[in-house]
Amino acid sequence: MTRNRSFLGVIIGLPYLHGLWHPQSKASANTQAQRFNVLYQILYTLSFYPMYSTLRNLVAIDSPTGFTHQACQYIFDLLKSYGWQPEFTNKGAVRCTLGNQAPTLSIAAHVDTLGAIVSKVKSDGTLGISKLGSPLLTSYETEYCRIYTLDGKIYTGTLLLNNPSAHANREAETTKRDLSNMHIRIDEETYTKEQTEDLGIQIGDIIAFDTRYQELPSGYIKSRFMDNKAGCYVLFEIARRLAQQNQTAPVELFFSNYEEVGHGGTCGYAPTIQELLTIDMGVLGNDNEGTETHCSICVKDGSGPYDYHFRRRLVHLAQQHQIPFKQDVYVYYSSDGSAALNAGQPFRVALIGDPVLLPRMVWNAPTKKAYKPP
Ligand SMILES: [Zn+2]
Repeated sequence: MTRNRSFLGVIIGLPYLHGLWHPQSKASANTQAQRFNVLYQILYTLSFYPMYSTLRNLVAIDSPTGFTHQACQYIFDLLKSYGWQPEFTNKGAVRCTLGNQAPTLSIAAHVDTLGAIVSKVKSDGTLGISKLGSPLLTSYETEYCRIYTLDGKIYTGTLLLNNPSAHANREAETTKRDLSNMHIRIDEETYTKEQTEDLGIQIGDIIAFDTRYQELPSGYIKSRFMDNKAGCYVLFEIARRLAQQNQTAPVELFFSNYEEVGHGGTCGYAPTIQELLTIDMGVLGNDNEGTETHCSICVKDGSGPYDYHFRRRLVHLAQQHQIPFKQDVYVYYSSDGSAALNAGQPFRVALIGDPVLLPRMVWNAPTKKAYKPP
């Protein structure tokens, strides 16, 4: 019943909580009361009037890792429209401080997604690919895609097994899929390498897979790449709501653009950051406690444990506000938080997530009751 208000509740409370957690914070009691009011208003409004347009818009912008400039420009323009002063990092990520105070907490989500890149134009005119990130080939087989050429053309195609028809290939079902026996079929009359190259397609062109975005009456949103555009959406709502209430916080929003290849979170933060909260997909699996309706708090992933004290605060926050959550170990996983630590950033890092299961996540149902913090 609580759906993803749990996730939003934890995230949106952070600017408020940051002041409480830090006795050295100069925030006055009045400021803290204002933050609490903001938290309440955010949660109340989100519960009754979910606005998905920015999520929908972001998902509609193809952004495989390494090809995120259009999505980052959208984020930049959106934050500007809310009255904030975002900036691009040298690597093209977007960061935005929520006011004039030096930020000590950075909240990060990544805008880059899985995808592919053309690695070969084959003799029959089809395309060989290399993965961007680690898409499961069995999940992406038969998926439609767009091919972005260097000179700005966009073609469409489909990821297929070689000789894919079961009517012509007895082993179509049992063949182990790998990059050597799959190809992109272009939706153009091309049957030779030269014909494909004449279209302007070449090695290095970007392959972006269809998202199949759907908002359903049940409250579900199904789409590829909710990892991690759902996380970006939460950051959008923090920015929008604080601006709407004329509030500020010593918080930085950080939209990284190379998470899927491991270095998005390594650098680019404001120099005053002490803590990093990473929002990314929560892992669901047979050995995990998490469900689609609980906020997932990661205790450890493939890179090691997250900060004990930071995590404990998140757990206490969720308990205090009766926000459903589960703690979990993500065995085969790392995050922008891992990248920051591995790069030597001296942050205390925590990781929470919106549980995503191929390719679906639960979001607010329009009919559910508002969450009312005590
Ligand atoms: Zn992710």
